[in-house]
Amino acid sequence: MPPDSLTAALKEEAARLGFDLSGAVAAVTPPGIERFEQWLADGFAGRMHYMANRPESYRHPGHILDGVRSVLMLATCYRTVEPLEPVAGQGRVSRYAWGADYHEVIRRRLHSLADFHRRLAPGAEVRGIVDTAPLLACEFARLAGLGWIGKNTLLINRQFGSWIFLAALLSTEELQYDEPLGADYCGSCRACLDACPTGALVGPYRLDARRCISYLTIELQGSIPMELCKPIGDRLFGCDICQEVCPWNSRAATTDGEDFRPLEGMNPVDLAELFELDEAAFRRRFRHTSLWRAKQCGILRNAAVVLGNRPHAAAVPALKRGLQYDEPTVRSACVWALERYS
Ligand code: SF4
Ligand code: SF4
Repeated sequence: MPPDSLTAALKEEAARLGFDLSGAVAAVTPPGIERFEQWLADGFAGRMHYMANRPESYRHPGHILDGVRSVLMLATCYRTVEPLEPVAGQGRVSRYAWGADYHEVIRRRLHSLADFHRRLAPGAEVRGIVDTAPLLACEFARLAGLGWIGKNTLLINRQFGSWIFLAALLSTEELQYDEPLGADYCGSCRACLDACPTGALVGPYRLDARRCISYLTIELQGSIPMELCKPIGDRLFGCDICQEVCPWNSRAATTDGEDFRPLEGMNPVDLAELFELDEAAFRRRFRHTSLWRAKQCGILRNAAVVLGNRPHAAAVPALKRGLQYDEPTVRSACVWALERYS
């Protein structure tokens, strides 16, 4: 099948499967690779060793799929309802994590799209990825014309803002390629830099993940540095501040899809009851949500930090229960929190 027909068919099928945007780009070494390598060299990835341990893999998508010629970048809108303001005893969850685990939802769609591709081009090697492979997704999405990389380091699309999940379909077939946007529409705005409560945006387009609340509450295993506990405020999992303040996001489109609508008790989360869940109950509640990534001890650590930042007398028994928890990280967070009640 000629590249233009194959590309058109893939884009049409992607839309049918629920992807809101798609754009094709040749499999190249992305121009942003040096910036990424400098970011790693500066230590800004913190303990995300899965990146630092294989920097050369990000140089070309050929490290993910042998013989790859094309990358079809895909974006899915996850903006549904607006966040509710947490009251005392509750914690805020990043919008993207309110509903079903996006990895599971998007992976299902990618499998269907890959099967469709193979039917159209028998013999083609195809691989769908969402987060788990060494691909500079924002960079490829920019090259595929899906948007620009904002000063908050996220991909911004004019219609959907940055409330989008990125995914990619790698193929050994040639496609008809899209053009990147000619401009960066951040202009003189610096709202995200000014709003970040931890100073993690150390400059335009430069994120020190070690200070970022998303990293601290999701990726970091172990204790959160004491000086960063307070700015975490009421954030149980992730942080949307640099997205909420972005003017492109306030006017962004929403989705009617059910997958990413808030599950019961996720927008926001009651914190004290988290300390009552045994391992099996925690699994039942969170296994198919993004919160699972932080593991039970990460979520309890974060819950204690939030309860320390927003003391709530009714939560004291829960924090005391946390003092009995096996993980020292949870125990020390509960000690830190309880000190704020005296
Ligand atoms: S996610 Fe939060 S902490 Fe991280 S850069 Fe954005 S505003 Fe700062
Ligand atoms: S808040 Fe302003 S500077 Fe930051 S990403 Fe949005 S438009 Fe760009």
